[in-house]
Amino acid sequence: MLLPATLLVLLAALAAVAIAAWPGGPRVNPRSHLRPAARVAAETHPPPAARSPRPHAGSAGSAAALASRQNRAINAVLRYTSYIARGTGRRPDVALTFDDGPSPYTPSILRILIRMHVPATFFVVGQQLNDFASGVRSELRHGFDVSDHTENHAWLIRLSPSGQYGQIDDAAKRLQNLGDPFPRLLRPPYGAFNSTTVKTLARVKMLMVLWSVDPGDWRRPGVGAIESNVLKNARSGSIVLLHDGGGYRDQTVKALPAIIDGLRRRHYRLVTVPQMLIDDPPPRHQGLPHLGAG
Ligand SMILES: [Zn+2]
Repeated sequence: MLLPATLLVLLAALAAVAIAAWPGGPRVNPRSHLRPAARVAAETHPPPAARSPRPHAGSAGSAAALASRQNRAINAVLRYTSYIARGTGRRPDVALTFDDGPSPYTPSILRILIRMHVPATFFVVGQQLNDFASGVRSELRHGFDVSDHTENHAWLIRLSPSGQYGQIDDAAKRLQNLGDPFPRLLRPPYGAFNSTTVKTLARVKMLMVLWSVDPGDWRRPGVGAIESNVLKNARSGSIVLLHDGGGYRDQTVKALPAIIDGLRRRHYRLVTVPQMLIDDPPPRHQGLPHLGAG
């Protein structure tokens, strides 16, 4: 769904206000908002729904220690910004993220990640748990990071403050019921947010996770196109937007092994978003991502 240019500009302006209005928020270069569209993703799929894998999850004690370090890192970042779109790039780290699951494609994605020992972050739509909760149970069991992508894949900017809170909190509580700690990360559907979103996230102490690489896999541009887009655009500190739900994801599944191999050949280290927050937290001036489909 391509949005009218005027709507994109309006949404971008809202986003700019959101960032500027948040106390303690980042001083974003105003010019970065000229790329507005940044804030909204043209996602066509219907509403379909985080923490990270530690494919080598250790003992309960080490898992608790890692969770504690992740929470401290998130708290530290929240002191100067409401979001992360990328790390500083001082380390050769890249974070693969998967939105809109769980779905029938989630087990295939997980099999690849586990076989190739790749940590990743999943942004889960709450309502998907009605039918595919086993996918998230598997993510949690294998130590992947599982975070919040709202209850119904909502356009948060169209909702009242209580509506936004409900979308974020309902999905978070569902994840908690599956054994996840209360998520500390939210990816807003379509990448769309406003000042109410930012205030709501401050209330629940969540950090917003955007992205810096978007191969548009949800449009199903072809396996080769997805792979080459990621490998061409990935840099140190990149956060890559992929989808394990929200429609047919056969192309994403097929492209994933080559994406992983290609990134590793380029000597990138694959990390979860929380690990990036520990090792390479976002710069104070991140800019905003291009049009995408969160
Ligand atoms: Zn999404």
